[in-house]
Amino acid sequence: MKHIAFYGLGNMGAGMAANLLGAGYTVTVFDLVASQVQLLVDKGAVGAATPQDAVKDADVVISMLPAGRHVKQLYFGSQDAPGICASAKAATVFIDCSTIEADDAREISKQLLAQGFTFADAPVSGGVAGAQAGTLTFIVGGEQSVVTQITPVLEAMGKNIFHAGDAGAGQVAKICNNMLLAVLMAGTSEALKLAIDNGIDATVMSEIMKKSSGNNWTLQTYNPCPNVMENVPSSNGYKGGFMVDLMNKDLGLAMATAASNQSAVPMGSLAQSLYQLHALNGNGGKDFSSIFESLQQKTK
Ligand code: NAD
Repeated sequence: MKHIAFYGLGNMGAGMAANLLGAGYTVTVFDLVASQVQLLVDKGAVGAATPQDAVKDADVVISMLPAGRHVKQLYFGSQDAPGICASAKAATVFIDCSTIEADDAREISKQLLAQGFTFADAPVSGGVAGAQAGTLTFIVGGEQSVVTQITPVLEAMGKNIFHAGDAGAGQVAKICNNMLLAVLMAGTSEALKLAIDNGIDATVMSEIMKKSSGNNWTLQTYNPCPNVMENVPSSNGYKGGFMVDLMNKDLGLAMATAASNQSAVPMGSLAQSLYQLHALNGNGGKDFSSIFESLQQKTK
């Protein structure tokens, strides 16, 4: 498993591919944007002119693309162009790290297995900073034998590797986590606003909750109220971090998964409404902790 074909060199993929190069893998890269390919070629990757060229010598394919339809089109092709499966070596392992619908991941797995390939869905948590630093968390769905086989490759890009279950389980686990994150961020913002509106300092309130039953990850590492913590998006005009638009994408996937088997997700659904409204009000490009700003200021 020395030769990797990497597709999708955007915010996440560029850092991940660079870390594979750093770990000594031969990496052939392809992206629709030529300048992104050049960025990785400058770091030692082999640039491919077509998706098919990138895959032909690969033991492993890694994709980091916007959505399920892009992954399916890349792997299996369209009316206009063949997919990379047609040019891949027998027994190539496909790893999709994009965040996509669990049903898409299951369908992709089925099609690949039928053609003699193996597959794991391996969406990530940790954001652009984690992709660059090689500290991502991978949440993997697939057969145990495949997970064991790909673990060294994932370890070159991340710190924590979890096996959630069969194909698709990585996607389900990832959106469960992000749905909870949205609920926690909205709830934490609400509690802080209530405290501020009633004369309690946000830093004091945060410390109280951190040592009480309201303690949670957003308070510990990502406080949504400006100037309570240093080096977090709320203290930097809500720039950087994890965009509201991406949170809305993940909440949409969570709601679709819930609808497919009639799971009750009332808190997730409310969080989705809040985040959709926040995006409609022009905040889609801000960090998701900016939901704090959307809560009505008490008028005295
Ligand atoms: P991005 O838009 O920055 O990058 C996507 C890249 O894919 C682009 O460079 C685009 O040109 C390329 N691309 C599209 N179709 C292609 C194709 N057929 N062949 C080759 N390249 C193609 O997106 P991103 O922020 O890097 O996110 C990628 C995935 O990771 C998404 O599924 C996203 O939900 C997930 N994710 C993102 C973050 C984050 O913080 N950005 C965190 C966790 C997970």
